[in-house]
Amino acid sequence: LIFLGIESSCDDTAAAVVTGDRRILSSVVSSQTDLHADFGGVVPEIAARAHAERLDLAVEQALSEAGMALRDLSGVAVTAGPGLIGGVMAGVMCAKGIAAGAGLPLVGVNHLAGHALTPRLTDGVAFPYLMLLVSGGHCQFLHVTAPEDFSRLGGTIDDAPGEAFDKLAKLLALPQPGGPAIEAEAAHGDPDRFDLPRPLLDRPGCDMSFSGLKTAALRLRDRLIAEQGGLRQSDRQDLCAAFQTAVAEVLAEKSRRALAASPVPLLAVAGGVAANGTIRAAIERVAQDHGARFLAPPLRLCTDNAAMIAWAGIERFRLGHRDGMDLTARPRWPLDSHATPMLGSGK
Ligand code: ATP
Ligand code: FE
Repeated sequence: LIFLGIESSCDDTAAAVVTGDRRILSSVVSSQTDLHADFGGVVPEIAARAHAERLDLAVEQALSEAGMALRDLSGVAVTAGPGLIGGVMAGVMCAKGIAAGAGLPLVGVNHLAGHALTPRLTDGVAFPYLMLLVSGGHCQFLHVTAPEDFSRLGGTIDDAPGEAFDKLAKLLALPQPGGPAIEAEAAHGDPDRFDLPRPLLDRPGCDMSFSGLKTAALRLRDRLIAEQGGLRQSDRQDLCAAFQTAVAEVLAEKSRRALAASPVPLLAVAGGVAANGTIRAAIERVAQDHGARFLAPPLRLCTDNAAMIAWAGIERFRLGHRDGMDLTARPRWPLDSHATPMLGSGK
């Protein structure tokens, strides 16, 4: 099997060619970070337009890097949601055009399923396993038992950690994306100088909250500015260290609960926040304590990419799944209901 994958649900335009025996023949990611930089967030209209402009080129490049022509493919997989609707629509239309023009099967894929199935692409892991997806837009624990069988054990009830990192960076006048900038500051800071909350740790279960943590950091910053007339470099570093430690502790404790609730041989992480060394180490320790293997796929496959979409398409295709020209883009698509959205099937 050889699949073309297409991803355009957020601010990366991506195309990839992946084989049924887990070889990534190409993975092209065209980031739009520069287009949205002045706006402090992804602007949906700009994103949709850029996807529409860049998709053809990304597909062409993915095919040529893979040394493939359309006739060599076994199918086309595309992110059909969840995500920013304009971008998802651009990807779905592109995929439909290719599938119809080249007479190839079309498979619609849930973006989150793409992330959740990545450990099977990178390491060929067996079911079941636990996945902690922790990125700029998502934070949830998934118990994965089959290519279309996910149960959500819990997740954030407000911000995702990546979003909280980005907002804190903005408050401290650090560059975006905030995660790497805060990790760099935190490396020189004292995590114990400031006392930040550990939201929802006092409540049972795997739900999390990160917006209160950000607000607490904001209050601390304002207090320091009021008392000292400004922030010293060490204040910034200590604040970053305290924040990073708080996030790591929350994620680690919730991972412990997830593993206790669903004992599995493997805990995997995905999403940009999993790049953070302190957070990663904290979660890895929890996995070790439970005798579970810890897996963090290479970062370029943990953040948004089309190889994971091609792979999730292959997994669905193997289960006999095909979509027609009535495949529709949906902004919301909870993973526990992995039926493909069809035109006219409602919200
Ligand atoms: P999606 O949820 O749709 O995948 P996204 O594009 O925001 O959204 P990613 O690309 O997976 O998500 O991750 C980006 C996020 O990861 C940003 O919020 C960024 O700040 C955060 N991040 C990246 N590196 C680090 C790091 N070293 N420490 C903490 N956070 C990080
Ligand atoms: Fe994503």
